[in-house]
Amino acid sequence: MSEILDSSKTRLFVDAELGAGLSIGVSPSQAHYLSQVLRLKSGDKVALFNGRDGEWIAGVDGAGRGWCSLSVEIQSRRQLAEPDLWLVFAPIKRARIDFVAQKATELGVSRIQPVMTRYTQVNRVNTDRLAANAIEAAEQCGRLTVPAVEDPLALDQLMAGWPTERRILLCDERGDAPGAREALAEKSGAPWAVVIGPEGGFHPDEREKLRRLPQSTAVSLGPRILRADTAVVSALSIWQALVGDWR
Ligand code: SAM
Repeated sequence: MSEILDSSKTRLFVDAELGAGLSIGVSPSQAHYLSQVLRLKSGDKVALFNGRDGEWIAGVDGAGRGWCSLSVEIQSRRQLAEPDLWLVFAPIKRARIDFVAQKATELGVSRIQPVMTRYTQVNRVNTDRLAANAIEAAEQCGRLTVPAVEDPLALDQLMAGWPTERRILLCDERGDAPGAREALAEKSGAPWAVVIGPEGGFHPDEREKLRRLPQSTAVSLGPRILRADTAVVSALSIWQALVGDWR
């Protein structure tokens, strides 16, 4: 069984159980994509994943207006453990929040959690659109899961229910907490969250509360103030390099 990624493959995320010999139908929009956009014919192959059963090769059985049926044939990749990394970020405006959902997915987060802070200027988040962006990015980048996209929570509410064991990489342009680099070098296997503030930054009270949490490691992302979407990409890349699956 090959574990090598093949970027030329058409990959689709499905809900259905996957296993040799199963026959599955895809959603009307996926059927349209396969039969009208890619013009696949009976016997053509696609790769399927559902976040649980690894990746499978399936052949097109038949397609019509709004439907397409596929026969699951052989497993091409086993399901592997992926990093347990949340992205907590203050929402930003439309094109840039879509970018955040796509890039966070490509960079391996397991949960996308919008958080409302005092200086957050966006008050509605279209989580369905973010989830659609995450699915498309997961299909394209070869990962075997799609991150969960959660409804926005107020910062206080999120912190009140924060899991004791989940560590926080707090991105704070005010600078590293003492011992931050050493803390990031520890390979404890703990779950993590990267936390990014709004365009206006954290309110001083929010920043102090976050910095004082026992799970928190405040870090600078360098001597320049990054826009929130740039900070997301930068922080997730740093986390993957120091703690995650960059080898
Ligand atoms: N407070 C800043 C201001 O108004 O000048 C801007 C906030 S920045 C646009 C948005 C978020 O990105 C920050 O709250 C922080 O989480 C993160 N960020 C941006 N640049 C950073 C840096 N150099 N180091 C750490 N975090 C940074």
